[in-house]
Amino acid sequence: MTKTMPQAEYRQGLHELAEAIREGCKVRPRQTFRHLRSGADGACALGAVAAARKLPFRWNALYDAFPVLETGVTVRTATHHCKFDNPDLFEAIVCLNDHLKLSREEIAGWLELK
Ligand SMILES: [Zn+2]
Repeated sequence: MTKTMPQAEYRQGLHELAEAIREGCKVRPRQTFRHLRSGADGACALGAVAAARKLPFRWNALYDAFPVLETGVTVRTATHHCKFDNPDLFEAIVCLNDHLKLSREEIAGWLELK
């Protein structure tokens, strides 16, 4: 079940998420696929968010810290999406990272273009 939020809050949430991905890439420079983290230096896009904000590497901790992850995504996301029928932003990022293998920097940029 996806949620909506006021536009300003939504945009701010996307921006904070993108920033956290970029920060996390510095802490964990190796991108992982299908795992939030691996070893001491690996993380996927969402794992990078957890690393940047010192969150537990668990999906529920990410949803709690970034409510924007629960919002539904637009047509633009849907065109990229290959697995979920009605993805929220969290699932869309998983798709971009794990299935389409975009770099985490590309995912951060994609978030801010919306
Ligand atoms: Zn996918």
